[in-house]
Amino acid sequence: MTTGFVWDERFAWHQQGTMPLGSDAEPYPGPDTPETKRRIYSLIQTSGLGSDLVTLQPRRASDTELQRLHDPVYVERVRAMSDAGGGSVGETVSIGEGGFDIAALAVGGCLVAIDAVLEGRVNNAYALVRPAGHHAEISRGRGFCVFGNVALAALHARATHHVQRIAILDWDVHHGNGTEDAFYTDPNVLTVSIHQDGNYPEQRGRLEDRGDGAGYGANINIPLAPGSGHEAYLAAIERVVQPALRRFRPELIMIASGVDASARDPLGRMLCSAETFRSMTDRVMASADELCGGRLVACHEGGYAPTHAPFCTLSIVETMARTRTGVIDAMATRLANSPGHALQPWQTEAIDAAANLAGDVPTGTASS
Ligand SMILES: [Zn+2]
Repeated sequence: MTTGFVWDERFAWHQQGTMPLGSDAEPYPGPDTPETKRRIYSLIQTSGLGSDLVTLQPRRASDTELQRLHDPVYVERVRAMSDAGGGSVGETVSIGEGGFDIAALAVGGCLVAIDAVLEGRVNNAYALVRPAGHHAEISRGRGFCVFGNVALAALHARATHHVQRIAILDWDVHHGNGTEDAFYTDPNVLTVSIHQDGNYPEQRGRLEDRGDGAGYGANINIPLAPGSGHEAYLAAIERVVQPALRRFRPELIMIASGVDASARDPLGRMLCSAETFRSMTDRVMASADELCGGRLVACHEGGYAPTHAPFCTLSIVETMARTRTGVIDAMATRLANSPGHALQPWQTEAIDAAANLAGDVPTGTASS
């Protein structure tokens, strides 16, 4: 089993800036700091996992590649802002001087991961990129996201490798609005988002948003109440995601892999541990083995807990590489011993409601 891995030091040079707190509160560094991503990379190396991975060198996505999703006017606006020293490129998203190249490199990191998997050079791949992408819209950035990394990678798979049916599972704690929008009328891309109900963006990620036109049924939202953890996430994967994948029969599975459902994340109120991410990855890999020859590409999204995001991400990549380093997430035991961790009735209700939608997923016949 070989797993490709993408990282570039320049991803840490992206400048998201400070969190707006109003004029009365002292400015404070925003949660999307370089440090968290560097610490993820660091743990992957110090754990010994790094030596088991195939290093994939990212490249900058071209304008043509970016424009598969984004309005050319927006692409030019990001470039101009980057050249002018940086600033806002949408809602709650900024870049610094040279930020265009870093954002294009993050997209390109996901594209090379797609190439490596679809050309059979690796079995699967994890792209640890920054800035994140799943909130980015066609003509503006949003929520720390400049360009739609995962959506662009899926479009690249289609344009370059002639892969038609792609499933994208987004387990970032926030709703994957940009990815949902990109494929809302497309029956050949199944988008599934598991997220904290009512978090970000506002009014997005509702159960009733199921796609439109020919794409109706190919979008599933699984909004979970704050406080959901290991059991709820696994139930969502087993009762909703896996049946939907089986019905859809993708040729490639992608994960928008935010780890901000971690119990320590400042931007989420969920209770997942590294063991949750390990189990979810294990289940998705089983589906990939069953349906599409194991072809799986994960693109990193959010995750803002400097002391916990590294453990969560490590467990995902370990699982993809079918290995264990022996690194333990101390939070996992603490959470498992917490009362109320078993599946709660309101969680079951939310998951059952989403499970009912899986029967409307457009069926496919593709197989490995
Ligand atoms: Zn997020």
